[in-house]
Amino acid sequence: MLSVFKNAVNLLLPPRCVLCDQPSGSICICEPCKNDLPRTTPQCYQCGLPLPAGHDKTCGQCLKHPPFYDHTVSPLNYTFPTDQLVRALKFHRQLAEGRVLSHLLYEHIITGAHTLPDQLIPVPLHRLRMIKRGFNQAFELGRYPCSMLGIPLQITSLRRKRNTRAQSGLSRGQRLSNVRGAFYWRGHKTPGRHVALIDDVMTTGTTVSECARVLKIAGAERVDVWVPARAIPARDAHPDRQARPSAHGHTTRR
Ligand SMILES: [Zn+2]
Ligand SMILES: [Zn+2]
Repeated sequence: MLSVFKNAVNLLLPPRCVLCDQPSGSICICEPCKNDLPRTTPQCYQCGLPLPAGHDKTCGQCLKHPPFYDHTVSPLNYTFPTDQLVRALKFHRQLAEGRVLSHLLYEHIITGAHTLPDQLIPVPLHRLRMIKRGFNQAFELGRYPCSMLGIPLQITSLRRKRNTRAQSGLSRGQRLSNVRGAFYWRGHKTPGRHVALIDDVMTTGTTVSECARVLKIAGAERVDVWVPARAIPARDAHPDRQARPSAHGHTTRR
């Protein structure tokens, strides 16, 4: 309720940067803070993790165990302060932070050579989680790029039938069995030849891969994944990815 009130008040005030509280443009992030965000480096076309030396498109892990999705689009690393923006949206329904994330995702899409999908599908929440949280952050993130790009946001046909536990701390095999069979397609029509899934953050990629598997069984030929933030497992961190102080005095890990 407090977040609804705060969002309503924010609409009446001039936009301010969600990170430093200085006056900002309509997307609620000032240029210095925007320039200081932890951007993704050259990525694996498929999973979005940093591309190791010697690979020009796809990482070894994707060649060995290809996920069901075909391409990942992600502008930011899930480190400080991206993680704060994601959590503000997800757990406190701060729509200004959500707007920043969806705008950065949109900018990344239009500046890259990304083929646009026929429709965008938010990763669904289980009904009980939806009741508890009151909204789906993936849907909130999808609204802006869909309206700007003229793509339909399909929210009714991909369903989550099982509430899964958090994927962090599970082995690869446990993660797969945790989400296997958790989603189903309930549409009369096929999802479309080329679709994209949207979520707030991609960590192991197991959840979106399971969604992509279901979409392909339902008839999709290509499934992309759009996420504002990509988490990088410690083993994929580059040696030069050290914590350093940002221009704003806080510590940023890149
Ligand atoms: Zn700022
Ligand atoms: Zn990969």
